[in-house]
Amino acid sequence: MVQEIKNGVLYFDGCNTVELAKKYKTPLYVMSETDIVSRFRELNECFVKKYGNARVAYASKAFCTLAMYKICEREGTCIDVVSGGELYTAIKAGFPAERIEFNGNNKLPSEIEDAVDYGIGRIIIDGLQELSLIEKICAQKGKKVKVLYRVTPGVAADSHDYIVTGKKDSKFGIPLDEDVFYPEVERAIKSEYVDFLGLHFHVGSQLFDNSAHLQALDIILEHVKEIKRRFGFVCTELNLGGGFGVKYTNEERKPYSYFIDPMMAKIKAAYEEMGEPMPAAVIEPGRSIVAEAGMNLYTIGSIKDIKGVRKYVSIDGGMTDNIRPALYSAKYEGVVANKADVKVSDKVTICGKCCESGDILIRDCLIPEGTEAGDLFAIFSTGAYGYAMASNYNNNPIPAVVLVKDGESNLIVKHQSYEDIIHNNLIPDYLK
Ligand SMILES: *Cc1c(COP(=O)(O)O)cnc(C)c1O
Repeated sequence: MVQEIKNGVLYFDGCNTVELAKKYKTPLYVMSETDIVSRFRELNECFVKKYGNARVAYASKAFCTLAMYKICEREGTCIDVVSGGELYTAIKAGFPAERIEFNGNNKLPSEIEDAVDYGIGRIIIDGLQELSLIEKICAQKGKKVKVLYRVTPGVAADSHDYIVTGKKDSKFGIPLDEDVFYPEVERAIKSEYVDFLGLHFHVGSQLFDNSAHLQALDIILEHVKEIKRRFGFVCTELNLGGGFGVKYTNEERKPYSYFIDPMMAKIKAAYEEMGEPMPAAVIEPGRSIVAEAGMNLYTIGSIKDIKGVRKYVSIDGGMTDNIRPALYSAKYEGVVANKADVKVSDKVTICGKCCESGDILIRDCLIPEGTEAGDLFAIFSTGAYGYAMASNYNNNPIPAVVLVKDGESNLIVKHQSYEDIIHNNLIPDYLK
């Protein structure tokens, strides 16, 4: 466990949270390297080593910084990027281009040009105009790229509507309609500018049941067989996406093998039936790598007790550093980190400082009686889609990120200054 309580104080990966708050100020994002690495190592055992021809591509949109890419590089994983900005960050971190895979439903021509220039490992085509765009760019540059098709398997995963991505009515993926899919695949197989490898699907996020993955895979494997029948072409790579659920409050986290093993068994059966060797298998976990490795630290300020209604406890951050509760009613748990062993009996609502009534981080959170301004509040499992989705709403600066490991701490993202926030502002001459 990377969290423990010593002398009434919450520790995270060996670091005293009160001292972290003193040293780096709040609000603060804290990331546990030990926790991140333990996820990669688990995947290495139960997927990469166990199956051989298998890769993990960390979906870096969940948490994307230079230091995170360095950890991925050291741990030997691939990464998935979904924008020119993430691609740029990875390249700046010195991440090997051939281990980068590029997803996204509207990759800009300039982003594809960068990807081709850097020589990235894979482009996952996600749209009917994209192949032509890639071909044009590759023709100009005299290069060839490896591609997969992201398809929409048409299964509905059980999660929040905003993070369900595999159903037919989705902006993601190529529909599997007969008259759309096969002509597209045929074009890719015959193209002289791309190396077509296979298919990709990603059914959604924060899933605890493997049925959506398995249903999607069944559909994908039927198409793999049909591609062989029609074109004599065997897909040599299948990308199974991410979406593995994590613990925010009382969820029961499933081991990766719960998703991976039955999927690999299905792939094995299908390829044996075709009389073909196993394809490369890729997964793209994002949330499950970094969510539980993150903790947000805040200082408690104003407390408003509306008798018989609700008690609001305000902290010095909010929806600007964690939009998930406001965006999709995400649930979190937290503790008063400097009173971590005091009995909790006061039911309060933890809210942010932004000018939005919806700026609430935790409803009905139990904290110790007598919690007061100046106390430190820690929210757990904030590592995924927290810093990554931060905004400057109300011109609040984006907090610093600290990487902790075995009692050591290092700043990996500096706290934004007010000057940083207005850095790109300009005043036209006539207003001066
Ligand atoms: C977001 C995303 C992932 C990662 O999803 P998680 O739920 O964070 O594991 C993987 N693949 C693609 C294409 C994605 O868009």
